[in-house]
Amino acid sequence: MKDVLQQIETGADRHLAELKEFLRIPSVSSNSSHRKDMERCAEWVKGQFEGIGLERSEIIPTAGHPLVYGEWLGASGKPTLLIYGHYDVQPVDPLDLWESGPFEPSIRDGRIYARGSTDDKGQVLIHIKAVEAHLKAHGKLPVNVKFLIEGEEEVGSDNLDAFIAENGERLRADAVVVSDTAMFDRDLPTITYGLRGIVFFQIDLEGPNSDLHSGSFGGAVANPGGVLARILAAMKDDNGRVTIPGFYDDVAPLSDREREIYRSLPFDEDRYKKELGVEALSGEEGFSTLERVWARPTFEINGLLSGFTGEGAKTVLPARAMAKVSMRLVPDQDPDQIATLFEQHLRALCPPTVQLRLTRMQGGKPCLVPIEHPAVQAGARALEKGFGRAPVFIREGGSIPVVATFSDLLKIPTVLLGFGLPNENAHAPNEHLDLSNFRRGIVSVAHFYDELSRTSL
Ligand SMILES: [Zn+2]
Repeated sequence: MKDVLQQIETGADRHLAELKEFLRIPSVSSNSSHRKDMERCAEWVKGQFEGIGLERSEIIPTAGHPLVYGEWLGASGKPTLLIYGHYDVQPVDPLDLWESGPFEPSIRDGRIYARGSTDDKGQVLIHIKAVEAHLKAHGKLPVNVKFLIEGEEEVGSDNLDAFIAENGERLRADAVVVSDTAMFDRDLPTITYGLRGIVFFQIDLEGPNSDLHSGSFGGAVANPGGVLARILAAMKDDNGRVTIPGFYDDVAPLSDREREIYRSLPFDEDRYKKELGVEALSGEEGFSTLERVWARPTFEINGLLSGFTGEGAKTVLPARAMAKVSMRLVPDQDPDQIATLFEQHLRALCPPTVQLRLTRMQGGKPCLVPIEHPAVQAGARALEKGFGRAPVFIREGGSIPVVATFSDLLKIPTVLLGFGLPNENAHAPNEHLDLSNFRRGIVSVAHFYDELSRTSL
């Protein structure tokens, strides 16, 4: 590894110059006016693959934005690693809140400011430069690698699942690595080993055939707004537990080791409350805040609409009410099963005075790769070498649907090695990436490939 680390060291200025080039391309996937930029950005990634000496690189058109695929498969008998990331970025507005242009990378206080710096271009380049360092040092890699870099992550990865489903053989690997998450805290290398899943619904209740005068009809006709409020309130009990029968049946309990790990993390509940502007926290009894967010399922109202919401008063009995609700799921809950249980419970709670229409919208499975898994342990050893201290293991309350897809379709585990920081403004103005984490990321990932070559998966 000495020669590899030497390559990373001597390449530092060039790596930074290339990061700036990558960040200058305004690859905003949600806006059709950037279609040409998306193509240019895919070409740039492919150019990197060619430049570092991958054996094969290819732009793969989709119904949306193209995928970029690259591979080097010369390490016979060694594990194959699939490296997933994305080259598309979020929109930049509100533009006036940026201190420097979102596509004019600017370095201040050891951080590089630009849209996509932490999410996810900087983290994609970490892998490209680590592969490059191995190839420059030894003309070969310790493991086989396949890069899959997509351009639609920020708009729901619409075309990715189909590509993965149709290309199982091409993508066959022993593990996936994704660097698109954040470290728990500064200088605290982190492996995220669990993600929550989600089911999402729109509930529509219809009462009378039009809005009614609340004086003439109030008291005799059910108010859909009131009915909906009662139903939604009944979804959780006073201890913060979801009341849907069977909801918790498949929830994998937290192990003592996990609870111990979470307790030992530097989590300041007072600072957390202050940052959020809340007087007190709320949640399921018997669980800490981190446990509630990472390892327990939820029911949340995401939106609520009924009746007159304009200025002043209008005495109306609304004809309809609507809510958007979602449930975050944890292993081993199944989104389809939970969706069925929710619908049964909702229909049981709904009185005959209103008509119920339920629309299921999006979803994703939860996933968990055990801390003891050899690929995760290889990641832990690599981070320790890159950062000079052992990593912490955390879960993430949100969802990264592609991780469940890899698990479902390719039957392989994903190691989430994230080099962002929680306050680096991903999706917000002044997004940035800590440059010491960029450098330590390249070193860690170079070690990861090396560690993996001695791991049987
Ligand atoms: Zn991302």
